[in-house]
Amino acid sequence: MNNLTVAKFGGTSVADHAAMSRCADIICENQDIRVVAVSAQSGVTNILVRLTQSDVTADERQTLIDQIRDKEYAILNDLNQPESIKVALENLLAELTSLAENPELPTSLKLKDALLSFGEQMSSLMFAELLRQRGVHAVNFDIRQVMKTDDNFAQAEPQLALIKQQAETLLKPELSGSVVVTQGFIGSNAQGETTTLGRGGSDYSAALIAEALEASVLQIWTDVTGIFTTDPRLTKAARPIPEVTFDEAAEMATFGAKILHPATLIPAMRRDIRVFVGSSRAPKEGGTWVVNKAETKPPYRAIALRKDQILLTVKSPQMLHATGFLAKVFGILAEHKISVDLVTTSEISIALTLDNPTNTTTSVLSDTVLSALKSFCDVKVEENLSLVAVIGNHLESSHKYDKKPTENKLWKALDSVDVRMICQGASPHNLCFLTPTDSAPAVVESLHDVLFD
Ligand code: ASP
Ligand code: MG
Repeated sequence: MNNLTVAKFGGTSVADHAAMSRCADIICENQDIRVVAVSAQSGVTNILVRLTQSDVTADERQTLIDQIRDKEYAILNDLNQPESIKVALENLLAELTSLAENPELPTSLKLKDALLSFGEQMSSLMFAELLRQRGVHAVNFDIRQVMKTDDNFAQAEPQLALIKQQAETLLKPELSGSVVVTQGFIGSNAQGETTTLGRGGSDYSAALIAEALEASVLQIWTDVTGIFTTDPRLTKAARPIPEVTFDEAAEMATFGAKILHPATLIPAMRRDIRVFVGSSRAPKEGGTWVVNKAETKPPYRAIALRKDQILLTVKSPQMLHATGFLAKVFGILAEHKISVDLVTTSEISIALTLDNPTNTTTSVLSDTVLSALKSFCDVKVEENLSLVAVIGNHLESSHKYDKKPTENKLWKALDSVDVRMICQGASPHNLCFLTPTDSAPAVVESLHDVLFD
């Protein structure tokens, strides 16, 4: 099948019957879409996560399960309550309830994954039925037969060779006569136990399915009309980008743009699958194509912002004209599995940035790491910094694109801010600054003004 397209619909796209109907329109208008991977309806996975927590009382548990039941029945009613779907839904709700009541749930990652899988199981059940009612020959396919993973519950690693093999034997034969509706996010290990690929993993699932089926297009349908030049919350001038290369999109994901699950592009890049990102609410408005080779390669494509950065500066006067200082510092960081983003050096010191997400309870820089470093150098830690990344092409020669080379507009936009660190040169696709978090949104806004308007 030459133009085989895998379409993924996110949680807001399948939130209710009306939203699902808009997705059905998209499928009915494009004969190439043969596989559809859905997320759980928006909000459902969050409710399921709450159910797995140890402080949920029996009353709250009942309320949460009722909330899920109400969401599902709202769709079922709009589908006119077909008996077989009602029975299947009741079976899923019964299984879900018994898992939610299992006293071992809060301490078992395996049981948690089993519970979290119900959101996707229910949405695919409903969506396949909705398509059938629209006259599409649709089957609801349990992706756990194909999406084989390791045992790392909650963050399972896909087993590519097995997935390919299972897709060939079980999924491919379904494609000739039907649209296959299936689940994102979930998989199973060698024992057949349910696993998940991590929160937001449905994009990644769809990309893996597209890779296994050798599809030519992967569509990611969400609630935004593609990838924007920057986060629209930072400036009203942000606008969708029609086309972006894999390299640029990967830089954007690394530096904080949250459109796709970060692993999504990896399978697409491996097999050169064109990826489209668009809004199922407004499919006619177009979206962004993420491709291997773009028609245009402008110097400035997007600006990303990543908050919660730590700047670590290590300094050792003994290292003047000595060797091995960098190796020693990085050795310690590697030993503690600390990933470094930006690096600058001077003769006797190194400054590097680390990501320190606020939603975790511990800092990336533990006392053990700090004392290991302090045993041979001075250490300074600065917080409340943000990383601003300008993403584009050939940024090393960006002055050519300015009308007055002596007045490079990019640097001009940074006139009035403290720039704590600058990195350019390792990749032609990015130029990064570290600035105080307070001024970062303003930096993005003024950069956007000069580079995109
Ligand atoms: N339903 C899962 C989540 O909310 C996976 C996804 O939507 O991508 O994380
Ligand atoms: Mg998502």
